[in-house]
Amino acid sequence: MTRSYISHVFRFAPSPNGYLHLGHAFSALINHEMAQASGGSLLLRMEDIDVERCRTEFEQAISEDLAWLGLSWEGPVRRQSEHFDAYGEALASLEQRGLVYPCFCSRTDVVNAIADKPNWPRDPDGSPLYPGTCRHLSAAERDARLAAGQPAALRLDMQAALALLRRKIVWHEYGGGAERRDICGDPSLWGDAVLSRKDIPASYHIAVVVDDALQGITDVVRGEDLFMATSLHRLLQILLDLPAPAYHHHELLRDVAGRKLSKSLRAKSLRAMRREGVTPGEIKDQLGIAKRIFAFAS
Ligand code: GLU
Repeated sequence: MTRSYISHVFRFAPSPNGYLHLGHAFSALINHEMAQASGGSLLLRMEDIDVERCRTEFEQAISEDLAWLGLSWEGPVRRQSEHFDAYGEALASLEQRGLVYPCFCSRTDVVNAIADKPNWPRDPDGSPLYPGTCRHLSAAERDARLAAGQPAALRLDMQAALALLRRKIVWHEYGGGAERRDICGDPSLWGDAVLSRKDIPASYHIAVVVDDALQGITDVVRGEDLFMATSLHRLLQILLDLPAPAYHHHELLRDVAGRKLSKSLRAKSLRAMRREGVTPGEIKDQLGIAKRIFAFAS
């Protein structure tokens, strides 16, 4: 990225449902250093829509760990749990245009619906595409089930959305250095994605695009595991008339078995490393951050 008159705004957006590990440190440090190299700012956003699993204790630990690494961010910590109204407005706007529909299916219903179809397509995360059961419900049945208080998710009607769009989904992807390219994405790979869950009145996909716009994010820097989701995010941005940030999907840190570091696979936390006497400088050296930044800033 060359210096320009645009003020770049980056964000690091962890979920406070566990302690940060080296993979988070890598992402946070890249964001921080890119923000500095561009003369821009970095926000810290807690992706805590899953209020059952997210805890204040983890949120505090995240701020502490980032500060220990020498990172700073602008303004107060942002929280997705404070934006359910904004997500609701975005969903209502899609609903008014017939682009979402309530879905009463459980996971088991979906599995059963495709049980005799061994080659049923899967989304880029490996989940079976939604077979569209509730898309075909009559308006009367939908209304009756909603009136009876049956819990419903809201799904994007992908075909309707794409028919309305009639244009390619493109985003601007840049690398760790000077390379940049336009990516043509295919959101249909996600099928009728869930935009609001039965238990939570939003999903990651709707929350992330609404927040990136609300917070004026110009540069989304995150792991390459979210590369494919970007086509869906761009689709939602277009449907909701939200600005398009530029994206940089960085490589992921993996364990010796090649699996991405994750909380669920019990990757060692930064806190545990700190207790063992590892210093922030050693972590940065290990991650090769200084080398990357040189490439980015040059
Ligand atoms: N909350 C996501 C995570 O912790 C990051 C989402 C994003 O950067 O768009 O992996």
